[in-house]
Amino acid sequence: MREKQYLMIPGPTPIPPAVTAAMTRPVIGHRSEEFARLHQEIEEKIKKVFQTGNDVFILTNSGTGGLETAIANTVSPGDRVLALITGNFGERFAAIAKAYGKAVDLAVVADRLAGGADYKVVLATQNETSTGVLNDIAGIGALVAKTNALLLVDGVSGVGGAEIKTDEWNVDILVTASQKALMLPPGLAMVSVSEKAWGVIEKNPSPRFYFSLPAAKKSFAKWNTAYTPNVTLFMGLNAALDLMLAEGLENVYARHLLLARAARAAMKALGLRLLAEESYASPTVTAVYAPGGTGADELRKILKNEYGVTFAGGQGILKGKIFRIAHMGFAGKLDILIAVGALEMALAKAGCPVELGAGVRKAQETFLEK
Ligand code: PMP
Repeated sequence: MREKQYLMIPGPTPIPPAVTAAMTRPVIGHRSEEFARLHQEIEEKIKKVFQTGNDVFILTNSGTGGLETAIANTVSPGDRVLALITGNFGERFAAIAKAYGKAVDLAVVADRLAGGADYKVVLATQNETSTGVLNDIAGIGALVAKTNALLLVDGVSGVGGAEIKTDEWNVDILVTASQKALMLPPGLAMVSVSEKAWGVIEKNPSPRFYFSLPAAKKSFAKWNTAYTPNVTLFMGLNAALDLMLAEGLENVYARHLLLARAARAAMKALGLRLLAEESYASPTVTAVYAPGGTGADELRKILKNEYGVTFAGGQGILKGKIFRIAHMGFAGKLDILIAVGALEMALAKAGCPVELGAGVRKAQETFLEK
């Protein structure tokens, strides 16, 4: 039974069988009609997920490569950057170009933007994976749109699980990656670019090669890519987008919200403390403090070794203090019951007081109420 594993980390996430099947097709040449058709098909579908009329570039690199692409093409030495940090990934986004468990405070952003500094870009994280916090991108976008600054958004663990309206919310560059809510293995980043952003990119003197958006744009005009793409992942992406569109994007987002609601209700029923407040809780990942008497990593070890369930741990200052349950992408109601049921047993094994079934019952009730 070693192969019976329950991967519940915020990426990589489980892959639907239809996506795995699509990726077993023979590899094709990327300078072929067949690839161009595939690329064009993907583009039509991914624009719906991004809710954008602008081009979405599909780049063969991980999410960080997408974030570096966004920054390398817009920022040059000496430019001022306003980085809105709500956790480890916001920190990383800022580090490429410095309140854990809190969402971005719009009043602070408005204040900074009004402070007279001419910011070139503002960096924000849609869904802060390290804390399970969803930021108000619409609110941030409305503030940044009034300035000359570009809004660059890390949507790596949000896009596909939490709705984002790229154009309506004034997001200039949105970055996401394949291995999270898009239900694919790691290896692709998707990057949309607004007209306002192109104005800055074209004037940016900094050197770029692999991460060059102008190079990507030139090839894109012929449904090609600047460098050899991961054609297998492109096939998988097409299949994953088909699944999402067949379910209906509204239903996909509602499913994620319901799973998050059930996970949170179950944790509360077990007397556990949640990291993020309800008003800005992530629909794709739930962060929970370990109870007194045990460490989060001890619980995670029991979950993995005894039950084959993998939760993520805490990062940075939260290391050892929290565990994180992902309900992202190819995740359904029964996944939550497995996660909560296994957690109850792990708590009992770790010697923590726990009423077996209390969390599972609460999750079941949440699903039945719906
Ligand atoms: N940003 C966020 C919000 C993330 O969750 C992650 C991955 N966990 C990254 C960036 C980095 O992406 P990658 O590991 O694909 O480079």
